[in-house]
Amino acid sequence: RPDADRLSLELIDQHVAHNYHPLPVVAAAATGAWVTDLRGRRYLDLLSAYSAMNFGHANQRLLMAARRQLDELTLVSRAFNHDQLGPFAAELCSLVGKEMMIPMNTGAEAVETAIKISRKWAYDVKGVPDGAAEIIVAAGNFHGRTTTIVGFSDDPIARDGFGPFTPGFVTVPYGDADALAAAITDNTAAVLIEPIQGEAGVIIPPDGYLSRVRQLCSDHRVLFVADEIQSGLGRTGRTLAVDHVGVSPDLIILGKALGGGIVPVSAVVGNTEILGVLGPGQHGSTFGGNPLACAIGREVVAILAEGEVQRRAERVGEVLADELKPLLGNGLRAVRTIGLWAGIDIEPELGSGRDVCERLADRGILAKDTHGSTIRFSPPLVIAEEDLRWAVGQLAAVLADR
Ligand code: PLP
Repeated sequence: RPDADRLSLELIDQHVAHNYHPLPVVAAAATGAWVTDLRGRRYLDLLSAYSAMNFGHANQRLLMAARRQLDELTLVSRAFNHDQLGPFAAELCSLVGKEMMIPMNTGAEAVETAIKISRKWAYDVKGVPDGAAEIIVAAGNFHGRTTTIVGFSDDPIARDGFGPFTPGFVTVPYGDADALAAAITDNTAAVLIEPIQGEAGVIIPPDGYLSRVRQLCSDHRVLFVADEIQSGLGRTGRTLAVDHVGVSPDLIILGKALGGGIVPVSAVVGNTEILGVLGPGQHGSTFGGNPLACAIGREVVAILAEGEVQRRAERVGEVLADELKPLLGNGLRAVRTIGLWAGIDIEPELGSGRDVCERLADRGILAKDTHGSTIRFSPPLVIAEEDLRWAVGQLAAVLADR
């Protein structure tokens, strides 16, 4: 029906809380990097559901794994064991070089889990006095939306109106290892950072920063906790963003693409000496580690273990960087890219990020602004080179059209 999308938009407006400001596109189907709306119009997806759709819409390997598991077993809870959990855990640990994992569902849950583990480790292993553990976080962070997590966000929209907040967090500037060194105390349990800040606009820290974070944490017996929920699992051209600098955090937080864009799957991965602090009843989730999630997660891990997706992200990422470069000074104030991930700052006089995204949608491209005049491009890693070139051409046309 020609008015189906209008009706759908009305229902969403009336009956869904207004906690998002989506573009007025109503998706109805998708394959690869292309989304089709209710009117049959096609759009190139340059967001990938905030990197949850890294392996492409309707990825046949992932759908097959899901379908196979749907016919066998979908949920028993962690009250009992099931045959997919052990292999998923072992395969994920092997992928990132760790010994143990704890499965959860959403990214924010996994971040909360890492916070709880870090505190427990500080009390049980490091000997921090009870209730005194501190976790150092970075300015500009985005780790999710729970009350504890927004409490250490410095984005007023995320934070204001939701207090009182959980104490025990200290904020330092991102990318400044000296500031981090100065903030570490005897009570510091962990440093929690994104190796590349996604929501902040694909902010890549200065050379040497992540290695110094690793060194400082090791020197002061502090856990290095890397939130790779958005940066991990192929996006940057490596399995993890920290792989670019050969650094191994103590805890790695994964989410988004771990569920293949089919179900929410997240995890905290680390070594036994750290994850071993959790005992029965101290943490859990009804759906965390369910058989369907594990079966899909296993296929995601199998895809990444082959390495082709990461190599492709790096190769096609170079195309993205090359195509964007000429726009610097021609509508773009800054371009930051790594793998198939770009943060671009639009000259503010050309319009807000939202404005440019609306105009891109008119031209058949789905992208999302992050803050003000910054837009992030994070297409499915299966995107065709020519589609990517076309998309940047459309961006150039939008910027020139002002
Ligand atoms: N951490 C990072 C780095 C993220 O980018 C996100 C989501 O954008 C989250 C955590 C929260 O994940 P979720 O929305 O699944 O709770």
